[in-house]
Amino acid sequence: PDSSYIRNFSIIAHIDHGKSTIADRILECTHTIAERDMAQQVLDSMDIERERGITIKSNAVRVMYAADDGQTYQFNLIDTPGHVDFAYEVSRSLAACEGAVLVVDATQGVEAQTVSNALLAMNAGLSIIPAINKIDLPSADVARTRSEIEEGLAIPAEDSVSVSGKTGEGIHDLLEQIVRAVPAPTGERDAPPKALIFDSYFDSYRGVVTLVRIMDGAFSVHDRVRLMASADVFEIEDLGVRRPKETPLARLDVGEVGYIVTGLKDPSRVRVGDTLTLDRNPAEVPCPGYREVKPMVFTGLFPIDNDQYENLRDALDRLRLNDPSIAYAPETSAALGFGFRVGFLGLLHLEVVKERLEREFDLDLIATSPSVDYRVHTTKGEVLDITSPQDMPDAGRIAHIEEPRLKVKVIAPPDFVGAIMELTIDHRGSFKDMVYLSPTTVEMHWEMPLSELIMDYFDQLKSRTKGYASLDYEFFRYEPSDLLKLDVLLAGTPVDALSFIVHRDKAYARGRILCDRLKEIIPRQLFEVPIQAAAGGRIIARSTVRARRKDVLAKCYGGDISRKRKLLEKQKQGKKRMKAIGSVEVPQEAFMAILKVD
Ligand code: GDP
Ligand code: MG
Repeated sequence: PDSSYIRNFSIIAHIDHGKSTIADRILECTHTIAERDMAQQVLDSMDIERERGITIKSNAVRVMYAADDGQTYQFNLIDTPGHVDFAYEVSRSLAACEGAVLVVDATQGVEAQTVSNALLAMNAGLSIIPAINKIDLPSADVARTRSEIEEGLAIPAEDSVSVSGKTGEGIHDLLEQIVRAVPAPTGERDAPPKALIFDSYFDSYRGVVTLVRIMDGAFSVHDRVRLMASADVFEIEDLGVRRPKETPLARLDVGEVGYIVTGLKDPSRVRVGDTLTLDRNPAEVPCPGYREVKPMVFTGLFPIDNDQYENLRDALDRLRLNDPSIAYAPETSAALGFGFRVGFLGLLHLEVVKERLEREFDLDLIATSPSVDYRVHTTKGEVLDITSPQDMPDAGRIAHIEEPRLKVKVIAPPDFVGAIMELTIDHRGSFKDMVYLSPTTVEMHWEMPLSELIMDYFDQLKSRTKGYASLDYEFFRYEPSDLLKLDVLLAGTPVDALSFIVHRDKAYARGRILCDRLKEIIPRQLFEVPIQAAAGGRIIARSTVRARRKDVLAKCYGGDISRKRKLLEKQKQGKKRMKAIGSVEVPQEAFMAILKVD
């Protein structure tokens, strides 16, 4: 095809502003999916996405649009996630596009990830089309949203389109605006072929499958191609596009987006951001690629069944292909055995990866309490990166500790400024400044420790602002902080997997809360289980799980068999999530208990 009829764009927005719903309408308007097969959020194809109602993975799909000018255009659209933890996923998609549809919910206006995603698109040099969404709702305020787009984002609002992803109103205008405002891809038809790998996944039958944007030239089935970074060579077994079902083609041309099946069985050979070229006519310079991301939150992941250790390693290798932002290294715990220390971009990312490992690879895992990356300066002048509390050196060897601080942005109506101040200061935040995006929306800037942000900050922010505040953050720098390690003892034995690092001022309060919470979480055993929190060699808090008196089955008076069976079944399921530590059965929630502090 003539590349002047191709339009490549991403749909970006704050979470829940309607990206996936607008993508649905586009699939429908272009007759890509028959009306009877139309479901909601079609492109959210993973189970976790459907259950949680959020997009986690970007999803590229091709549609053909018969425009008002009589021409048919090839649209390659990429629906993207909105949550801050998945910003890396968004930036990778943007590199495959010339344009971005920036969706803004007209009942919410500009929110934190509206700003950050718009910036990502601007920095990638894309044309931005603002789409003001949900205009079917009575509380939609198009005028205010327009002024926030102009003032908060400095994007001219006369290019914006008002739409409803729900009713389909305005979608036709949006498609016409995409034809007009998104530039056709440039790239040379006759240059040596070159493709950017912007995503990939592992398929048990076909090996590594890559998603690519062709930058120059063309690729055909059976071409011998080379990965420019790893220098691996393979023959293209199959290629094509998703609509959204995979549709094989003979060739992908300059400017197009599609998939290429590599047949490579070793996931570590392929890296997202790498460039694919023809072996006998290679390009000279690779595509710019992607910046490496640094994980911010770390946890130990341990198989409940120790025999699953190798499976966990394979699963991590394969998942990393689909999610290059995770990092991992082996870790051993006295309490939990062999596992991995895994780094994530945030807490939601952690939860999602753990769930994907369990579902897609059939594993049962325990995750230990999350930690950030502490920089420990020893008395001998060494600097250690400590991502696991159990690696923390003895207090006597520590000169001082630095912890990562964030630049935090909170966007909310002015009424909530007081509540946000109180909450953020309590999380050791320091206030920087505040600007009005419009008379009804303020943007506040803070600095705060990452370790405090993961302490329930987001949930509390939401609840104290009745859901109106939105949050965005980025790493700022390391700063010295007065920190110490808090250990937890169960039945007198320290449990390494329950240790965490805490600011001195908060040690007593958090130790107290943790002991109380663990007492609720750890089920009664046949004997009494004392719980103690210790810091600096002293016990600072304690509680006790009292002994269980009766057998649960005794309650059934021996009669009702089916009830008895149900009860046993329930116990068995409960057990799945438990790990025996010494003689105490500890459920998964115990390891995360520290995160819920109030
Ligand atoms: P995303 O996170 O940006 O992908 O947002 P979704 O497409 O998942 O939509 C979030 C929620 O908003 C869903 O419950 C949608 O049904 C709803 N929604 C999306 N667009 C509209 C719209 O135009 N009008 C109304 N009333 N609801 C919408
Ligand atoms: Mg979505």
